[in-house]
Amino acid sequence: MKKGISILGSTGSIGKQTLEVISTFPNKFRVIGLSAKDNLNILAEQVKKFQPKIVSVENEASAEELQKMLGKTQTVVYSGGEGLLKIACHKEVETVVMAIPGSAGIIPTIEAIKMKKDIALASKEVLVAAGDIVMSEVSRKKIRLSPIDSEHSGLIQCMKGELGDKIKKLILTASGGPFLDTSIDALSRVTISEALSHPRWSMGSKISIDSATLMNKGFEVIEAHHLFGLDYSKIDVVMHPQSIIHAMIEFIDGTTIAQMSAPDMRIPIQYALLEGERFPNKFDLMNLINIGSLEFSAPDRNKFPCLDLAYSAGKKGGTMPAVLNSANNEAVKLFLDGKIKFTDIQDLVKQALDKHFFTKEATLEEILAADNWAMKEIQTSIS
Ligand code: MG
Repeated sequence: MKKGISILGSTGSIGKQTLEVISTFPNKFRVIGLSAKDNLNILAEQVKKFQPKIVSVENEASAEELQKMLGKTQTVVYSGGEGLLKIACHKEVETVVMAIPGSAGIIPTIEAIKMKKDIALASKEVLVAAGDIVMSEVSRKKIRLSPIDSEHSGLIQCMKGELGDKIKKLILTASGGPFLDTSIDALSRVTISEALSHPRWSMGSKISIDSATLMNKGFEVIEAHHLFGLDYSKIDVVMHPQSIIHAMIEFIDGTTIAQMSAPDMRIPIQYALLEGERFPNKFDLMNLINIGSLEFSAPDRNKFPCLDLAYSAGKKGGTMPAVLNSANNEAVKLFLDGKIKFTDIQDLVKQALDKHFFTKEATLEEILAADNWAMKEIQTSIS
């Protein structure tokens, strides 16, 4: 029986690579639903190739345009937030791949979990902003939440068969992005295209900027805290520019297990979709002899303050991580629009966190309100 898959964000980098993985295993998966924002040409091609039952786009105008592009088709076209819910909760869907940026993925993820769908999670925002709520739904509904992130996929593989109390430390590696060796003074003058040119991974623009500021690693620390239920004091970050080791676990007896693979997102996507079972593929292979050496260093916390902003927001919990996520999302947009400097991102996020009156035991409504507050806070602070 082929597993029914929906992809929220099918025209983004993770969405496209997920469809490549699905094409690699045509006997294991069938595509039930796809969603995209406004990349209609790519979505139309995907619909023709994968014949999903339903698709969704951002608004009604795009839905009409897509319908015209598709002509006569069995695929039903929806739009907006309601469309996302239909894709996430369709009765034939077993696993939802959540790969839309920003906080738009939070509600569809929670609703899909309530419908007992397994989640393959690439949207970091979901666990960063609403980790407590999402994880309690995961355990209430007993569904499988598989991270689509090389570090967390690596951690799961290092952990196999070991119990939580045997773990001394989780270690996430960070490539350091394009500015690992840039001086702290030069950072305020870097250009958008310099910030977007990640030396190891090919990714969407939002996450590329987050990698350049190390906010991405900060988000991953918060995600790891929720996924593995470990205190922040047991989660470390180590710089590793080759991006070959994705994560390590240090055990109480002094043994460290590391997970290595080529920096190719299709590998963790496959691992998530196949629920940890291993099957051969034709993706990139790691060649240690060509790589020659693996380097490690401590993160420069002065140069990349976003890392500690994330640790501190994560430790405070409640609505703080939602503000971190949303303020960062908005600041990154402003940077990509050429309206602020690269180093303004960290300053704006810090200002929003400092100003926020946080609620410790936050409901979903309070989290979404904090998300909205932080977005507006950033917008008004530069106008
Ligand atoms: Mg990652």
